[in-house]
Amino acid sequence: MSPNKLSGLVSHTVPRASTMIAQLKQHGVSHDELLSLMENIPRHEFVEPAFSHLAYSATPLPIGRSQTISQPLTVARMTEWLLTYARLGRVLEVGTGSGYQTRILAHFFNKVHTIERQQLLHQQAKQRLTNMGVNNVEYLFADGQAGWPIKVEMDAVIITAMASKIPLALTECLKPQGILIMPINQPTPQIGCWRKEGDQWKLLATESANFVPLLDGIADE
Ligand code: SAH
Repeated sequence: MSPNKLSGLVSHTVPRASTMIAQLKQHGVSHDELLSLMENIPRHEFVEPAFSHLAYSATPLPIGRSQTISQPLTVARMTEWLLTYARLGRVLEVGTGSGYQTRILAHFFNKVHTIERQQLLHQQAKQRLTNMGVNNVEYLFADGQAGWPIKVEMDAVIITAMASKIPLALTECLKPQGILIMPINQPTPQIGCWRKEGDQWKLLATESANFVPLLDGIADE
């Protein structure tokens, strides 16, 4: 069999971007620009090479340093909440990871600030997105629970690692009416989307999901 015929066969046995998009639509994701963006971002370049053939399947995958990229539906859901509720000015992301969610935020927001506590992942994500021509992102290697080191008010904060409490510094940097998206592990693991209304928080949406934990300090080995 010629190599061309073989690659033709293989491409039918692994999930492709188009399959991923069809599944997202089945689960109610309907934002056309988001769907088209996710169809065109090479998700296989964001996961550990040994898992790149599974990049478009409905599952979280390893990205190195025992961390995972969220499954496509979770990324799409969190982004749709932002597109529905947030002003698309400045966003803070805690948990850069592979940079996949960062890449999507950079498409919709004017400016993205992203923090990662694993130095290797921070460096790889920065290199990856820079190579892709993304130029509206500021990257920081730090414990994101302390927030962005310079006082800038955010229209939205998105945390992509799970905790039991919302770190105070991350709520304080939000503008009035700002949007917070965060996975919380109680009473059961779920992601929530809240709007800051004075000193109250209005819950706008929630969905069950699992995430790696939000950890203290940095890892620079
Ligand atoms: N949004 C990422 C998901 C990565 S998983 C993606 O699309 O790939 C969550 C990430 O949060 C991990 O990389 C983990 O190292 C990071 N993380 C956990 N606790 C953190 C903290 N306190 N500050 C910054 N990053 C943190």
